[in-house]
Amino acid sequence: MSSNTKLSEDTSVSFNGWASTGTPHLSEFAYHPRPIGPKDVEVEISYCGICGSDIHTITEGWGTLKLGPCIPGHEIVGKVVTAGSNALHKVGDLVGVGAMVDSCGNCERCNSGYHQECSKCAFTYNDSFKDGRGGLSYGGYADRVRVNSEFAFKIPSNISPAEAAPLLCAGATTYAPLKRYNAGPGKRVGVIGIGGLGHLGIQWARALNCDEVVAISTSDSKREEATKLGATKFVNSKNPEDMKAAARSMDLILCTSFGENQDWGKLISLVANHGTFILVALPDNPISFRASALTSRCVSVTGSMIAGRETVQEMFAFASEKGVRPWIEKMPMSNANGGVKHMMEGHPRYRIVLETPAAARL
Ligand SMILES: [Zn+2]
Ligand SMILES: [Zn+2]
Repeated sequence: MSSNTKLSEDTSVSFNGWASTGTPHLSEFAYHPRPIGPKDVEVEISYCGICGSDIHTITEGWGTLKLGPCIPGHEIVGKVVTAGSNALHKVGDLVGVGAMVDSCGNCERCNSGYHQECSKCAFTYNDSFKDGRGGLSYGGYADRVRVNSEFAFKIPSNISPAEAAPLLCAGATTYAPLKRYNAGPGKRVGVIGIGGLGHLGIQWARALNCDEVVAISTSDSKREEATKLGATKFVNSKNPEDMKAAARSMDLILCTSFGENQDWGKLISLVANHGTFILVALPDNPISFRASALTSRCVSVTGSMIAGRETVQEMFAFASEKGVRPWIEKMPMSNANGGVKHMMEGHPRYRIVLETPAAARL
């Protein structure tokens, strides 16, 4: 570690978490957090969801862990136990922290509401702070975390703390692009992949009153649950008849998952003329398709990553009002490795949320 990093440590306390050094196996790991800054809050963690990004990161699918052991987890909910003099929250407040914990707050990107594109953005884990105070970020598979209070969000009272956790990443990631591309009345929206992200994508599209909400999955076993989530149609992407019938029928498609050796042209063929295919899934490898899949029908392919502060706040208000809630399975934080294994085997329906002993004190 650099001397700069050491200087930023508050050696009076240690936070304890579960960290990876590049394998899916997590070991207990303690670290000294940064000293609490004027805008910071310290959160005693009650819940943390397990996101697909956690798995990509700890298995080094997205690159080597260059900053040392990584405590994953960016769907964090807990109580504020310490607040800096200028923090937005006070001790005792219930807050949630998503995939980023800092940004400069006054550049053109921050002012446009895209804090995740700020050059001084710090992601919640496996990242370094760029605010001049040094230090590394560690995530929510832990007992505590210290973050810039601007990236800690009040949880509406009618959303349970455990259900709020997955909204902070999976919820924001799916809500933001649907809103940006005007999902709503008059639009037919498809959601590829009925998993942690997709099961929320279907609920958002439904709550936004889209004309059609099409669940697209490789497995017929998801058909019934997709209907419960609000899908009006189901397409089995492995069934050629289904794919033929659904060709060019959706104005917006939110792609939350993909198969091994995915034929991307096939998925894009479902987009209606002048429609948009939005990638929120992040394959480890490059993707390819023929240019004519786009040129012949003015189809756009775009991408989206998490959401800025105002969009997260808007999402919580919308979820609160419309009753959008993740379907979760709780597991104890002490069994974080069991949670990761369950996630990697691909069977959670639909989000695993790790629970700490602090949950009993909420
Ligand atoms: Zn995530
Ligand atoms: Zn900025």
